[in-house]
Amino acid sequence: MLLHILGSCAGTEPVAGRDYTSWVLECDDCAKYWFDCGGAAARTAYLKGLDPTDIRALFLSHTHLDHIAGIPLLLQTIKKQQWLVHDPSYQALPIYTSRPQILDAAREFFICERGNLAHASPEEFTLELHELSAGEIFRDNNIAVEALPNNHQPPDPATGKPVSYSFRIFCQNMTIVFTGDIANLDEIAPWLQQHVDVLLLETGHHKPWEQCEQIRLRGWNIDQLLFVHNGHCIFDDPVTAKKRADQAWGKPVIFSCDGMTFPLLP
Ligand SMILES: [Zn+2]
Repeated sequence: MLLHILGSCAGTEPVAGRDYTSWVLECDDCAKYWFDCGGAAARTAYLKGLDPTDIRALFLSHTHLDHIAGIPLLLQTIKKQQWLVHDPSYQALPIYTSRPQILDAAREFFICERGNLAHASPEEFTLELHELSAGEIFRDNNIAVEALPNNHQPPDPATGKPVSYSFRIFCQNMTIVFTGDIANLDEIAPWLQQHVDVLLLETGHHKPWEQCEQIRLRGWNIDQLLFVHNGHCIFDDPVTAKKRADQAWGKPVIFSCDGMTFPLLP
């Protein structure tokens, strides 16, 4: 099982060598599960050799553009790959999101772009909407995914529904938590009070060493701490930031970079 970082940057101004947030969990049968899709995630994935036509599902923590702007390019990459390999077997891309409107926006991109893709397969894949809610949202033979609303964005004023989520993934006896963007770690405390193998922790809105100290003081049992959605606290002085974070947690943390791949060993 592998964890690929496609984009490691928070929604700040463009940063050299850093694209916006996206990562992929690849299981031993090569099935891939995408979490967020910022920037040119599909390009990075393709160049890493990750086939875009076997994405089992795309989970969107919320619909800020640093987490979703790469969706049109992802759709284009899937379509192009279908044509290049003459394989129309990829029928549907399931997208899990709090904002159903995003599917209409994506379809508009399809419609606008279709005239330029004369060789598109007549069996073009469809987009399959799944609206997020709290609790288990996905299960197949590889993984189960739970969603938990957080306070990064207020609920939709029209419907009262939460629009910003964190995810917990169970896969091959491992537990992975992805914070998405959060206001405070307390929002996912119910998950952190149980053992977590890998915590993907956003730090664009926080100081990593302060998050590390909070985790240590609360006694949360986390094996691996992987910072994603990174911001200036890390970019401006990574050496000092790493030293402070390691000291605050009492163990080495990992500041992720674009293109990194981590083996996950249960
Ligand atoms: Zn963000």
